Amino acid sequence: MKFPSAWTKSGTKVIAKPTDTSTPVVARIDMSADVVGKGNCPECRRPMQEVIVNNTKMWACDADRITIPMANANDKNETST
Ligand SMILES: [Zn+2]
Repeated sequence: MKFPSAWTKSGTKVIAKPTDTSTPVVARIDMSADVVGKGNCPECRRPMQEVIVNNTKMWACDADRITIPMANANDKNETST
């Protein structure tokens, strides 16, 4: 990939890791198989509503305004019964 010369000659260095690790970064949402994988909201962890968006099955949480496409609509863990 070719970057503009203004970027490559600016002397800015890319830091891959944070230099200050005294405050750990913690994810607010939980995308684990135990939460989202079972149809629960990654924010509030309550059961999400099954919706169809553009012919694709998705989970939705109105309270948190989150919509997540189902990994596999035929997966028993991802569909409500
Ligand atoms: Zn929620």
